[in-house]
Amino acid sequence: MTVLALAFFGVASTSLLLAIALIAAFQRFGRVRHATYWACAFALIALDHTLMAMRLLTSGSHTVANLVSCTASLTGATLVALGFRERSGLRDKRWLLGTLAIMVVGCGVLVVLYPAKPVHHPVVTTYAVAMLFFSIRALRRGPERELAQGRTTLAMMSLFMAFFGALTILGLMTDPWGTLSTDLYHAVYVLGVPASLTGIGLFALFLLAEDLAHGMRHLAIVDPLTGLLNRRGFEEAARRVKAQCRRSGTPVCVAVVDLDHFKSINDRFGHAAGDLALSEFARRLQSGLRQGDLVSRAGGEEFVLLLPGVNVREVSDLLNRLRVTLSADQEDEALGFPMPTASFGAVEIGPRDLLATCIERADLALYRAKRDGRDCVRVDLEQAVPA
Ligand code: GH3
Ligand code: MG
Ligand code: MG
Repeated sequence: MTVLALAFFGVASTSLLLAIALIAAFQRFGRVRHATYWACAFALIALDHTLMAMRLLTSGSHTVANLVSCTASLTGATLVALGFRERSGLRDKRWLLGTLAIMVVGCGVLVVLYPAKPVHHPVVTTYAVAMLFFSIRALRRGPERELAQGRTTLAMMSLFMAFFGALTILGLMTDPWGTLSTDLYHAVYVLGVPASLTGIGLFALFLLAEDLAHGMRHLAIVDPLTGLLNRRGFEEAARRVKAQCRRSGTPVCVAVVDLDHFKSINDRFGHAAGDLALSEFARRLQSGLRQGDLVSRAGGEEFVLLLPGVNVREVSDLLNRLRVTLSADQEDEALGFPMPTASFGAVEIGPRDLLATCIERADLALYRAKRDGRDCVRVDLEQAVPA
């Protein structure tokens, strides 16, 4: 019994450590609310196991301790699931909290009716399985899909769920439900539960760190005003697309777009109106192009596009069609003034051309468009460097 109590104290101290680590992660990794849910979950799991250990070391009926312990483990499991749901933007908590209340009352009744027997154990572990199932479901709906580590996390969480499922079955085969001895149940518990809890805690910490890294990377490559890729994001993505086009022999064009007389928009309507025009123009630019096209804001009122599958003979027509959809003479409903026109310069990228050189050439073509009266497309027809 003393050894088992020590093992429970071990689980409690590990859980407490994880709760502290999760609080530290909350403070350092962007103060996301789900970190506090997970921290509270592990603090409750620590409380549950401390009470379990104390029960083994002291005599008496322990009904109150059992009630607190049972409530702590059910609430802890719920908070794990709530944390995963919060992270995935699934904010509806009512049905989970309702289920928790029913479970606390139900298990409380079992504890009071059978003070000397762990009748409620399989009920609690079944509930843990259900909460892990909801956590996994939330994980699949959240930002995990974008992260390489997503599959590992899902696999580990499924493994922990399977373990708690096995523990439930074992619980049902153990006294007072079945004939197996409680020693076997405790042995499996002590072998598997600390590892599962530590695993869940560590993966929660990994997720918080990964989300932070992902957020920082997003900030580094996305323009905050328009939500388009910035110059760095464009260069990285364009290099990948260019290499794919080279491998598959697909043509690819780059185009530079600059709003005409944009300064006068700021001068006449104010900087905020200029910002609105830029974000609206960016939105239309993106919706006027295909999914695989790259659209970026290179700075100020200048945008750079990468158009895979488009060659030098097609690019002028494509950009002219786009140009007429972007702006009009009359007052724009979204802006309250006419959207300024834009000038375009484009060039086809040869398989051995450098991206930077092609952007420079597209820029020169854009200057020609500006010289030729603006609101037009000019293409650099110079032969692309062959493979
Ligand atoms: P052109 O037809 O020759 O391109 O004339 P332009 O006025 O568009 O070009 P110019 O380079 O003279 O001015 C660009 C203006 O774009 C000046 C700057 O105030 C404005 N601008 C650049 N970035 C932003 C921004 O983020 N928000 C707003 N509102 N204006 C910006
Ligand atoms: Mg301009
Ligand atoms: Mg400009």
